[in-house]
Amino acid sequence: MDLVWLRNLLSYEEQQYHHLLSMLEPTIIRQGKNDKLIWPCNSDGSFSVKSCCSLIDNTSSANDRVFEANVWIKGAPPKVQVFLWLAVQDKVSTRAFLHQWTVLSATQVSCVFCSSDLETSEHLFIHCNFSRSVWMKVLDWWGIQCCLPRTLDSLLLQWPEMVHGKFQRLAWRLISSSTIWGIWLLRNKIVFEERTINLFDCFSTIFLGTS
Ligand SMILES: [Zn+2]
Repeated sequence: MDLVWLRNLLSYEEQQYHHLLSMLEPTIIRQGKNDKLIWPCNSDGSFSVKSCCSLIDNTSSANDRVFEANVWIKGAPPKVQVFLWLAVQDKVSTRAFLHQWTVLSATQVSCVFCSSDLETSEHLFIHCNFSRSVWMKVLDWWGIQCCLPRTLDSLLLQWPEMVHGKFQRLAWRLISSSTIWGIWLLRNKIVFEERTINLFDCFSTIFLGTS
């Protein structure tokens, strides 16, 4: 099947396209027959939430469950959960992401905090000097000593393992998600309100929800 696209596909879109083609390959189109939706997990082809839940339970791996617990964090606001899910896939509207979609030019991609590096999710939330200082203060406050991980998913998936106890681990997940969300809110204040930001603003946003 040859399809014509209005723009070049991004690498992950090409993978999705090839995946779609491989799914369609065994499909035989019969002339004169009407299409109908079939849910293959029920013998009569009808959909039910129960069969959907058991499908998810049976197909999710241990890694998926770790991902779910650390990204879809119980108690975090839904908008923060969705934001984390996008952030670990590097799909939040950082300047690098907007440049990829040709919204920003190559001269507009530097980090809003330090102006010296490409503003990717990982730089913005972990490696930027400003964010690094924020994390160091949060770790200090919690009484943890460790190095910052290289990637955002390592931060979300592995860091909770440093904390012992179910309640403490949940609290740490909430604090780390709040820190990432707080960095994002402050970044947007600089971009959209031309505000000057300091570490105190960041802590107000993380712990008090104000800035
Ligand atoms: Zn930076």
